Amino acid sequence: MRKETILRKSVSDDAQEVYRAIELIELGARMQLLETELTLSRDRMIRLYRELKGTAPPKGMRPFSADRYMIWMPNLHSSLFYNIYLFLKERTGCSRRDSLIKGYRLYVEHCERNQLEVVVSLTRAWTLVRFFEASLLQQTPCCRCKGIFVAHKHDPQSNFVCGACEPPSRAGKTKKAAIARIAEFERS
Ligand SMILES: [Zn+2]
Repeated sequence: MRKETILRKSVSDDAQEVYRAIELIELGARMQLLETELTLSRDRMIRLYRELKGTAPPKGMRPFSADRYMIWMPNLHSSLFYNIYLFLKERTGCSRRDSLIKGYRLYVEHCERNQLEVVVSLTRAWTLVRFFEASLLQQTPCCRCKGIFVAHKHDPQSNFVCGACEPPSRAGKTKKAAIARIAEFERS
């Protein structure tokens, strides 16, 4: 009887892991994210990836600096995502992984509803969470709009003005330039 219970639990845990893997792959996860966050074997995740995407997963990820989250548009989007993530994790009892998945889905929905470019990919959102966990980043309030933004760990907390209240002069001049900057953020 006890053995049955254990077996049932492990089958259901396994099913949940597969479901999470499917959600993450559909949201654009790469192998490094899947291997770090899930307990499924690498072979199974590669098979799932091929099945869902019809292609082999891309190899590796380039190193990414926390500085990249400070560029004005990525900073606004990263801050939006991180606020949603933290709300889910701290106020709704979601696990860290589920807060990442649900939080990212909500962020994408917000962009789509407001006809905004999705600036932060799932990989970048995940890296952001890991930078916070490694204490490389902190949240800093804007002294004008009172919004909470992503900042370097030891940046001063007072008199910070966010990129929405004070956009750089070149910001948003042309859509083409904005898209080029977003592509640069993703590539770098
Ligand atoms: Zn502000």
